Amino acid sequence: MTITQAQTAAWIQSYARAVNENVDQLNKLDAAIGDGDFGASIQRGLQSATELLPTLSEEDIGTMLSKIGMKMMTVMGGTSGPLMGTLYIKMGSKAQGKMELSALEFGDAFRTGVEGVMQLGKAQVGDKTMIDAYAPAAEALVTALNEQTPFPIAVAQATAAAKAGYENTAKIVARKGRASYIGERGLGAIDPGAYAGYMLLKSLSDVLL
Ligand code: ADP
Ligand code: MG
Repeated sequence: MTITQAQTAAWIQSYARAVNENVDQLNKLDAAIGDGDFGASIQRGLQSATELLPTLSEEDIGTMLSKIGMKMMTVMGGTSGPLMGTLYIKMGSKAQGKMELSALEFGDAFRTGVEGVMQLGKAQVGDKTMIDAYAPAAEALVTALNEQTPFPIAVAQATAAAKAGYENTAKIVARKGRASYIGERGLGAIDPGAYAGYMLLKSLSDVLL
């Protein structure tokens, strides 16, 4: 199984739609442990990305993803802008010249994107950031694909790992980002970046199923 350029574009579009529908919730999650701008920021980033998509329909997946990443980096403020941008840019670096990726190539590209975010933000699993959703998802995806799990099922497993990851952020104290300023008082609150990470995986599931 593969993912085409058009499916990759549909994925970003579907994610932008999901974020639009959940923007208030994402802002509220950020307001509880940060400054409340996360929803608006990622909405703005994805809005610009989807506006760019029609101009990218002839581009390969790598070029499309890196242009989306650069756009998101420029229009999104805050901590998450450079981090989200890096996810797409690093993912794109593994898809240069390709109009279609095999499931394994996609898994490898996604993991490379997540590793890029970890290098930039220096966050590990357990720091109560987006990495708590992305890292287990990337690991689940690559493991499942290596075991020859059909692509949509592997993505569903990665989505489940991201869900478990974001849910766990409520049980831990933040060690990175603005949420670390309030320390233990953030216990019980879900990290917005991790929740948005789960949404990205869920959107991919929806497009592939
Ligand atoms: P801020 O308003 O503090 O500049 P944003 O609202 O743009 O930040 O983004 C907040 C999200 O960024 C958090 O929910 C968290 O998931 C993520 N985040 C913060 N620091 C890091 C980091 N070092 N590495 C990865 N993700 C991070
Ligand atoms: Mg914020």
